[in-house]
Amino acid sequence: MASFLRTPLFSVDLSISSRIDDSLRMSASSSLRVRRPGTADLKVSGSVKRNTCLIVQASKEPLELTRELREKQKTTFEEKNDELDPFEELKPRFLNFKKRVYLENLDHYQNLAEGQAPKFMVIACADSRVCPSNILGFQAGEAFTVRNVANLVPPFQHGASEVNAGLEFAVNSLQVANILVVGHSRCGGIRALMSMKRDDDTRSFIRDWVSIGKTARLSTEAAAGNLSFEKQCKHCEKESVNTSLLNLLTYPWIEERVNEGTLSLHGGYYDFTDCSFEKWTLVYRQCLEGGSKYSIKNRSFWS
Ligand SMILES: [Zn+2]
Repeated sequence: MASFLRTPLFSVDLSISSRIDDSLRMSASSSLRVRRPGTADLKVSGSVKRNTCLIVQASKEPLELTRELREKQKTTFEEKNDELDPFEELKPRFLNFKKRVYLENLDHYQNLAEGQAPKFMVIACADSRVCPSNILGFQAGEAFTVRNVANLVPPFQHGASEVNAGLEFAVNSLQVANILVVGHSRCGGIRALMSMKRDDDTRSFIRDWVSIGKTARLSTEAAAGNLSFEKQCKHCEKESVNTSLLNLLTYPWIEERVNEGTLSLHGGYYDFTDCSFEKWTLVYRQCLEGGSKYSIKNRSFWS
């Protein structure tokens, strides 16, 4: 894991790292480049560099202390390394998947190796609690999935993003029949959207991204502005799904296929506080006479 060490008086160029053993034998001042305070930070990553940096700092001290510190840091790091390797848990899971799923359905997976024809494109939040394959049971090859903070779809005019790159491929190449946008309870991205101050010009990737949902925030404030902040967030979690569904229609090749009846747009909402799922379908026609072009049908609630 990367960390940043800020030296209060000196910063040391890591280019000396390959000569560190020599530098320990020599006087420290003969091998260190010293810069003015505050001119540089050391970015350290990985075990070797971390130990090296600590040794370099220590090399300003007497030699014996340097040796002790080096041994202590080495032991500490090795102990931590033994405890914290997260892949020790993943390896048996993967091998179990290979044995119980892949090899037992070998024909299916070999067909998938030649190509995919999913019926769904799913746009879901990046939140670790709301994986669509976990909650809706999508199997390999069933759902082309894009996940992002707050499951937002930017409008066509917004320009390139990973969402519309995925949409272009799923709709125009894979010819998916359904796009499902899934919102969820206690969404941090929606909370960030609802918490944004209008006069706050602080730049942040999260702020810039979630501002795509500002229409949903305005609708929420109009419809539920008298409710508590928590309830407004919950309202906006669903409202932003509808905003995203309407944004999908700003893409000419999506609107065309929806009009043809070869593509359906669906909203979903997963509440992990009571494990329930709500779904609905957006109806859209270009030439409906009188009334809105949009309506909702097939709303259902699973609990
Ligand atoms: Zn979320």
